[in-house]
Amino acid sequence: MCGFIGLIGTDAPVQEIHDGLLAIQHRGQDAAGIVAYDGSFHLRKGEGLVRDVFEPSRMRDVRGSMALGHVRYPTIGSGGEEDAQPFVVTHPFGIAMAHNGNVANYAGLRSRLLRHGRRHLLSRCDVEIILNVFADALARQCAGGPFSTEVFRAAVAEVHAQVEGAYSVTGFIAGEGLFAFRDPHGIKPICFGRRVGEGGKVIYAVASESVVLETLGYEIEHRPHPGEAIFIRQNGEVTFEQVTPPRFRPCIFEFVYFARPDSTIDSMSVYRVREGMGRALARKVQRLGIEADVVVPVPESARPAALEMARELDWPFREALVKNRYVGRTFIMPGNEARARSVRHKLNVIASEVEGRSVLLVDDSIVRGTTSRQTIEMVREAGAKRVYLASTAPPVAHPCVYGIDMSTRKEFIARDRSHEQVAEQLGAEAVIYQDLEDLVESAREEAGVALEDTCHACFSGHYPTGRIDAKALLEVEEERLDSHGDDS
Ligand code: SF4
Repeated sequence: MCGFIGLIGTDAPVQEIHDGLLAIQHRGQDAAGIVAYDGSFHLRKGEGLVRDVFEPSRMRDVRGSMALGHVRYPTIGSGGEEDAQPFVVTHPFGIAMAHNGNVANYAGLRSRLLRHGRRHLLSRCDVEIILNVFADALARQCAGGPFSTEVFRAAVAEVHAQVEGAYSVTGFIAGEGLFAFRDPHGIKPICFGRRVGEGGKVIYAVASESVVLETLGYEIEHRPHPGEAIFIRQNGEVTFEQVTPPRFRPCIFEFVYFARPDSTIDSMSVYRVREGMGRALARKVQRLGIEADVVVPVPESARPAALEMARELDWPFREALVKNRYVGRTFIMPGNEARARSVRHKLNVIASEVEGRSVLLVDDSIVRGTTSRQTIEMVREAGAKRVYLASTAPPVAHPCVYGIDMSTRKEFIARDRSHEQVAEQLGAEAVIYQDLEDLVESAREEAGVALEDTCHACFSGHYPTGRIDAKALLEVEEERLDSHGDDS
């Protein structure tokens, strides 16, 4: 999971990129980067939060008419500064690129690029692979001639043909314009907007979440379809091209956890989908005959679902867990020990709201169980009589190969355990998981677009891009163990 923003048409894009990155800091807290172009490239990137990497004094000299920004959550790559995005190449044109997602056939493409000796790779970051496949294709298509949008389209088609996995991409070509494209499955979100700046000048932007554009005052004009590409020339001419037929499978976990509730993804309101998850889960609690005195959300992502559950069940809703907002999201913290420590720092219980009561905690998902175990223990210590845990997502049991570093198979608490065994491990009276069909239906109910199905591979093991075999899964797991150690 990463976040990006790209702009064209303003004389001072860097402050806007910086502010946009703050709006999507939740999508990655590991590294940040900005590149701007004003005839030369100006690139700043480093490890840490946006506010740490871009002090105002360091940003003063960065100007340009086009710029990109990125926040990183590490997937493939060691997570060092060399893997921070955006990336730049200089042949056949000056090209900058950033993305959200993960290249599933990374190892094969990397060795092919190196074997042919045409490309030098500086990192283990997978956007560098997409960038080089794209640049190679552009060079071949141009054959020494000038750039054109036809050539751009053909290069994106080559990326679609060669690169498997999930990737929403933005970038710019020096002297030509800003571009964006999405993989044919549309797994990761992207949106496109415009606003009128000073003197009536139109400024265009692409971003990985709608909240970024809304925060910056853009009107969302289009949500690129899976397999679609956009090119915005420096003179403001915009081209939309359906390069590859769409096979739409948006990531359902965006709705469960990643995206901000005030975002809309492919016309689906994240908040409304979360409410739908709550209603479906309430019906399941009723079917199971579970009785509790109070519904308590585990902040933040589960709040809309918990509110709807309380309403549907007609049970009191209490915000008995209070979050210290200055501690990062535990899911994206490397290492179980760090996660367990940070839960205690992050959450505190209002004892008066749980003391002597049967408490139904509602969390977005249960991955390793580290956070849930600690939370349940804290609620019991505060005097709860009984603690049930409801998860708005089904059991997570398969690794994500599309950009979410959610664990290796042996770390998943639900893998090879019954729901009763998971409850026992977590110290809960019972664990109530959302059914997969209900989860997907919550998105379908809200979809303003044709939504046959979603990516739900981390729950079902059905990878929509196909060809994810045991070897590919092992490679992903080895990368994860290399980057954050075997801390299960
Ligand atoms: S495997 Fe899960 S987290 Fe990964 S893209 Fe699919 S739904 Fe999203």
